[in-house]
Amino acid sequence: MVAERRPGARGIRLRADSIDGAVRFTLPPRGGIADAATLLDRHQDWLARQVAGWPVPLPFAPGAIIPFDGSTLMLDWAAAHPRLPQRNGDVLRIGGPIDALPARVLRWLKAAALADMEPLTRALAARVDRNVSQVRVGDTRSRWGSCVGNGAGAGRIAYSWRLILAPSLVRRNVVAHEVAHLVHANHGPGFHALLAELDANGAASKRWLRAHGAGLHWVGRAA
Ligand SMILES: [Zn+2]
Repeated sequence: MVAERRPGARGIRLRADSIDGAVRFTLPPRGGIADAATLLDRHQDWLARQVAGWPVPLPFAPGAIIPFDGSTLMLDWAAAHPRLPQRNGDVLRIGGPIDALPARVLRWLKAAALADMEPLTRALAARVDRNVSQVRVGDTRSRWGSCVGNGAGAGRIAYSWRLILAPSLVRRNVVAHEVAHLVHANHGPGFHALLAELDANGAASKRWLRAHGAGLHWVGRAA
């Protein structure tokens, strides 16, 4: 349980965060502890239901089956396998010391995410006649992608590497979204018209992320 005091908070808020598995209270700058305790007491059942619905951690361990590109990958680790991960269909073979397994899988997934999304980003940017200076992947919590449309650092696009765990139609939508921001800095009608032009499956992609997006944040998390 995490309690945060927010200068602007007027009341008390209780949130069960399905992305990182934390229960958070937001409190006004002063007081509120007694009310928070009452709120928590009244919402015991609600909280239990939320927590029961959270995804489960899926550590990078030998034999683990992780989501990948709309399908799955089984982590086939043996110390004697080649150290560089090798994918063969729905199996990822990895060797080397077991302690290094999580980091090796993570590195491989990040590289796969970039190898998939960078060419797509550049292809869509070319369609709207915009320049992309850099594409990178990180591990953002709140957003699947970000884009610097103009000014300093213009044309820099970043994605969450976790998108490689999702089906390609989801990546297509996130990439189209960020590329549309190279043209429109806002989410106005012009932005949405261009986004629809670049990606016809936006609704399906959003549905998928609503249902499974939080679960992607539990992949690779230690149990
Ligand atoms: Zn946006």
